[in-house]
Amino acid sequence: MGGSYPALMALGMLKTAPAHAFNLEGNGKGKKILILGGGLCGMTSAYELTKLGYDCTILEARDRTGGRCWSIRKDSHNQELNSPKQIADFDQGQYFNAGPSRIPHHHLLTLHYCKEFGVPIQIYNNVNEAAYYYAEGKGPFSNQKIRMREIHNDMRGYMSELLYKSISQDELDLDLNKEDIDKILEYLRAEGGLDIDNLYKASARRGYAIPPSAGNQPGKVAEVFKLADILSSGLADPDFYNVAEYTYELQMTMFQAIGGMDRIAVALEEKVGSMIHKNAEVTKINNIENGVKVNYTEGGVPKEIIADVCICTIPLKVLSNLDHNFSSGVSRAIDYANYIDTCKIGLQFKRRFWEEDEQIYGGITHTNNELTQIFYPSNDYHAAKGVLLGYYNFNEKAVAVGNLSYAEREKLALTKGALIHPQYPKEFETSFSVCWQKTPYNLGGWAVYTSETRERIYKPLLQPEKQVYFAGEHMTYLNAWMAGAFESARSVVNEVNNRLSEKRNIYQKVGE
Ligand SMILES: Cc1cc2nc3c(=O)[nH]c(=O)nc-3n(C[C@H](O)[C@H](O)[C@H](O)COP(=O)(O)OP(=O)(O)OC[C@H]3O[C@@H](n4cnc5c(N)ncnc54)[C@H](O)[C@@H]3O)c2cc1C
Repeated sequence: MGGSYPALMALGMLKTAPAHAFNLEGNGKGKKILILGGGLCGMTSAYELTKLGYDCTILEARDRTGGRCWSIRKDSHNQELNSPKQIADFDQGQYFNAGPSRIPHHHLLTLHYCKEFGVPIQIYNNVNEAAYYYAEGKGPFSNQKIRMREIHNDMRGYMSELLYKSISQDELDLDLNKEDIDKILEYLRAEGGLDIDNLYKASARRGYAIPPSAGNQPGKVAEVFKLADILSSGLADPDFYNVAEYTYELQMTMFQAIGGMDRIAVALEEKVGSMIHKNAEVTKINNIENGVKVNYTEGGVPKEIIADVCICTIPLKVLSNLDHNFSSGVSRAIDYANYIDTCKIGLQFKRRFWEEDEQIYGGITHTNNELTQIFYPSNDYHAAKGVLLGYYNFNEKAVAVGNLSYAEREKLALTKGALIHPQYPKEFETSFSVCWQKTPYNLGGWAVYTSETRERIYKPLLQPEKQVYFAGEHMTYLNAWMAGAFESARSVVNEVNNRLSEKRNIYQKVGE
């Protein structure tokens, strides 16, 4: 078929092959499945079960679907615990991702569903050497913004030089022959950019004091920093070192949904919208003989529903506060679940000064203060306006920032951010902040397990509690990722289908 294939595709006569198909044998024969939570896991479960003939109902407490897969746009709203309602006032078309913002290239199911639902994706620039390191109040570089490329290349250079010296002076007891040692030395020279004397000196890698130009301007390479100054400024501390970018999940290439990550949830809702009850807050889950009874309020009116099986995707911190008749072991596991504290703020600016003035196109600035990170948008480059992620922090910094009022958070983001970008006060327009541990129906960022809690909390929840199955990001080893929601959905759909269709499909999880 060769050349005619794209033409047929364009005419809609051929379907694109699913990247990671899910073909289960079974027949739901209209059996009733109740799904608690209309996030990615709940909606994907309904989508796949409906293909098999099950009759699905989704109860979603919020007035929107998507759960954590949420992009803040004009009129998005949130009312955190003990706080007033906050309404976003961004311009039409401006947004930031309050939850997921990045898709690793190896998250096959996330990419698969983007493809299956026709959600276009684009590159997410997670690593940008032009972004900054900013050490507040520490050492010789205190309160100076330094391009990441300067620190990265200096550290790489100094470390290579040190190792080169040790190896060439035979100080390390290496079990390698002379030929291999020469190869290592050659590698270190290249890795560190060492000079002819095998010393680390300034080179164009770390940038220019005067950039090269036309005529008689060859440019002037910037001087290296002293290693001792880098260390005493904390720029080799965990706040800054670039190990995060080496992790499997954060390595380039990364992607994002064009127009906001909530496009994935919107596309899913288009498939299963008729099954969803919004503003339907579950209050009680009871196993009954041969089924499940769930109480909920819909628009404030108490209601009850009975189903053959229930898939509960409600985050464990929330589930812990609900009424249920689960066994004491399962109940305890739910009550002791741990979720990360994490906060983000979106700041709309009238001008993309980070691009125009500072040549920063996407990527992340790191700092040791409460902001932790500033994310620059990887979309709409050179547009008139833009929304920056003014902070994205975790743990104790997120607790401290989350405990501030919305106005205080904005003030903090602007004051600390202006240390790095003095353009802030002149260009700022409006903000919206999200503190996930104070956000109802989530009460945390994502599940965090240790090897001990994997045994004590995770394992008991992997089994169904009679007719109730637990699912969601927290029921996987892909915590903090949408891929966890999708993997969990497929896994639970397989289990439910095997039980109700009396099949023995083996769901081959991605990676197996
Ligand atoms: C700050 C942050 C950053 C993230 N970054 C990334 C990223 O870059 N890339 C990535 O892939 N993933 C990321 N994630 C993770 C990703 O968002 C989640 O793993 C995924 O969206 C979880 O989906 P879920 O369906 O399991 O849970 P949820 O989305 O939480 O869905 C649960 C649903 O249950 C509903 N619910 C709760 N209580 C009730 C009740 N009583 N009655 C009825 N309904 C109820 C909720 O409203 C919600 O819709 C991030 C998450 C956060 C918070």
